[in-house]
Amino acid sequence: MTTTAAAPSSSVTTFLTNPVLHMIDGRNAPSASEEFFGTFNPCNGDELAQVAFGGKDDVDRAVAAARRALDGPWGRMTPAERSKILWRVGDLLEERVEDFALVEALDNGKPLTYARLVDVPLSADWFRYMAGWPTKLEGSTIPVTATAAPGDYFAYTAREPVGVVAAIVAWNFPLLLAAWKLSPALAAGNTVILKPAEQTPLSAALLGEVLRDAGIPDGVVNIVQGHGDSVGAALAAHPGVDKVSFTGSTEVGRRIVGAARGNLKKVTLELGGKSPNIVFDDADIDAAIQGAAMAIFFNQGEACEAGSRLYVQSKVYDQVVEGVARIAAELKVGDSLDPDSQIGPMVSERQLHTVLGYLDSGRAEGAIALTGGGRKGDIGYFVEPTVLVDTKPTMRVVKEEIFGPVVTVMPFDKVDDVVTAANDTEYGLAAGVWTSDVSKAHTIAAKIKAGTVWINSYHVLDPALPFGGYKQSGWGREHGAAVFDAYTETKTVIIKKG
Ligand code: NAD
Ligand code: MG
Repeated sequence: MTTTAAAPSSSVTTFLTNPVLHMIDGRNAPSASEEFFGTFNPCNGDELAQVAFGGKDDVDRAVAAARRALDGPWGRMTPAERSKILWRVGDLLEERVEDFALVEALDNGKPLTYARLVDVPLSADWFRYMAGWPTKLEGSTIPVTATAAPGDYFAYTAREPVGVVAAIVAWNFPLLLAAWKLSPALAAGNTVILKPAEQTPLSAALLGEVLRDAGIPDGVVNIVQGHGDSVGAALAAHPGVDKVSFTGSTEVGRRIVGAARGNLKKVTLELGGKSPNIVFDDADIDAAIQGAAMAIFFNQGEACEAGSRLYVQSKVYDQVVEGVARIAAELKVGDSLDPDSQIGPMVSERQLHTVLGYLDSGRAEGAIALTGGGRKGDIGYFVEPTVLVDTKPTMRVVKEEIFGPVVTVMPFDKVDDVVTAANDTEYGLAAGVWTSDVSKAHTIAAKIKAGTVWINSYHVLDPALPFGGYKQSGWGREHGAAVFDAYTETKTVIIKKG
């Protein structure tokens, strides 16, 4: 692991001095309106770059380019050719790991060390894993047996791209979320318009360079920068878009469903969470303490799957709570480029105030901060890692997604009680279970209404493993073979033989 803070490489310095433009039909383009907005470093509030402020005209141009590319060069390419290009994207991401890690750390505020070890290598993993799929998307032959269809038939299915995909993503893992959308969409032969979050537009623009260098034909991936209520809303409502793949808040997810109704475009949603993390008294307690802290504090708590509700069995409650609080107090909160930093700032001033508002509300409702509980410093948007005890199921801090480094802790005695408490949420993205009893682990995993259950682990995401939400955490699954349900249409062909 490299431990020195990177000085901006010359390519990143040049990248940041020029305005960041859209990528439409293979070319960098300003907005039709010629307007720009600023993106900021949340460690100090300094402006990093000016970014093209997209609007409906830009979306129209991008959708038209994606439509042309769908029937043009991308559609004509063989699956094996597409596969090679996607693999090359992974290689180029790896070659430019320092550039991407630096841009991500500056724009989002996450520690550079983690961007270098997590965000960029995982993005490369995703492109490489998905690079294997174009040659493996198969249909099947199916017997025709209905009494109403007498005769001799031969029937098969084929999987075809859905078409033009709009990928709208959040700011917490800007590059990785883009990789999660682009790699399967492209593997299945779709073309894409990517809309990065306005808080973190930079790594997507750099990804545009890599996609071009890897040989992705013009128009296959278009990147339109700008705000959600302009670019995002225009994409969600656009009659030329066949599918929206969205990662973001449940509230905006609902708006996207509404906007998509005009042409009934396909919609998949990766939304928020309030995931329970359950520690039993028979667990390896040291591992559970470490795991519970990492489950909430990784990425400043700005993770949709964060283990934000910690349930601890009474016998080990004090030990676990003290252990998690000690780790929270010792975590190094600091500038993203400081190699010692483990926790960066919240992504924006707005997110800082959202998290501080939850801390106030927790206090007002009677919760106690065992450690942390407030803002750290007055430069940048830092929040102290916080452990809240004396919490109750009715409190806002327990019910609502905070999306910051704040965990609520509650004791429990019986298995049935903790299952009920864990499921007492409108969300259902993930859960953690810490126990050395294998049968208990499987029993609980079956009872929890969540898309992913980690046992004696947390945050393990893999390109081959389906991920997504029950209840209001989303529609559909990303990753693995399952993601192709979202990015293909199944065509059934029936032939009368005689
Ligand atoms: P957000 O919903 O405000 O924004 C996400 C994206 O949607 C941004 O690109 C934004 O510009 C765009 N957008 C905003 N309004 C829009 C509209 N009306 N139409 C179309 N697009 C619009 O989310 P956020 O607050 O930036 O991100 C945090 C949320 O994302 C959290 O709730 C978190 O749980 C969720 N998230 C989920 C996952 C997952 O995989 N389940 C991953 C990361 C983040
Ligand atoms: Mg920024």
